[in-house]
Amino acid sequence: MTGAVVPSVHVATTFAQDGVGNLRSGYEYARSANPTRDALQECLAALEGGRAAYAFASGLAAEDTLLRTVLAPGDHVVIPDDAYGGTFRLFSTVLARWGVDHTPADTSDVGAVAAAMTDRTRLVWCETPSNPLLGVSDVAALAAAAHERGALLVVDNTFATPYLQQPLALGADVVVHSTTKYCGGHSDVVGGALVVDDAVRADGEPLAELLTIHQNAMGAVAGPMDAWLVLRGLKTLAVRMERHCTSAEAVAAHLQAHPAVREVLYPGLPGHPGADVAARQMRRPGGMVSVRLADEAAALALCARTRVFTLAESLGGVESLVEHPARMTHASAAGSPLEVPADLVRLSVGLEDLEDLLADLDQALDGAAAA
Ligand SMILES: *Cc1c(COP(=O)(O)O)cnc(C)c1O
Repeated sequence: MTGAVVPSVHVATTFAQDGVGNLRSGYEYARSANPTRDALQECLAALEGGRAAYAFASGLAAEDTLLRTVLAPGDHVVIPDDAYGGTFRLFSTVLARWGVDHTPADTSDVGAVAAAMTDRTRLVWCETPSNPLLGVSDVAALAAAAHERGALLVVDNTFATPYLQQPLALGADVVVHSTTKYCGGHSDVVGGALVVDDAVRADGEPLAELLTIHQNAMGAVAGPMDAWLVLRGLKTLAVRMERHCTSAEAVAAHLQAHPAVREVLYPGLPGHPGADVAARQMRRPGGMVSVRLADEAAALALCARTRVFTLAESLGGVESLVEHPARMTHASAAGSPLEVPADLVRLSVGLEDLEDLLADLDQALDGAAAA
């Protein structure tokens, strides 16, 4: 009506009714639906090529809502043996007490996933590329394996974003996002999302309808300002991802040639075991690069010495970040099959000048070696 080119932040918690049960605008109460959140959900559904999207207060809130919509006590889930530490913690501490058990498997190996499935398996979880080891899983093959046993395939698409990879088109049933990362893109909002396709059913019911009910019933929704910030981030997703990828490719190649680096984990490198699958299912290999150094001391020294790369958890923002997964983002996986190597450093390659990024990594690695 106003012609505003930007959707408004609707802060109202409630909406006037013209008569009892006669909604004026279709809106009733802001937990159930809010116009700003609807705008984000419509945008995410369109980007992922899904029927419906649901925005939440965090990535983990999205995951929890999905899991308690689809699963019941007694069900079994196959989870990746390399995944975001908080996802593992959700299964190991929350869902386990709720009577859902899980088996970790290498999701880059479809045979290993099939072998881990039981008659009680309702869901296969996959992250590709994975956090923090940058493993690549074949979404179409995993979808076929899951569907053969009547299970759903969930893909955490946080690292790739819908710009680089669209799991629903490859056969996945549900896409999960931490919109805190690339979708928001500016390190100023925590959020999560689920996107589902048309035909997906759980217990014979359309999953999209069940999620509408559970999003409202569980209430872990994205607030209007948070929804607006993610929407704003999504406007530049394509250009940001192109630059993230260009710089990450250069960082990976540069680090591979550095004598202090034992191994570079990046799906765009020809030697990566998932390079062919990544080339098939992703537009480009993404903005995350992990490296393995001589030992934990060398990894901690690199984290301590960068100046352009800020030492911090999280990823996917315009600024470059460095972190030590074993002691930071993945500390909750210590002692589990998802434990990550102590010599690992994870880089979120940002949008700064590439020469500055390469020079920063060189001075940090050379300084660490000299120390
Ligand atoms: C950060 C992250 C999550 C969790 O999202 P939050 O917004 O922090 O709750 C889930 N999956 C991946 C791959 C992540 O990086």
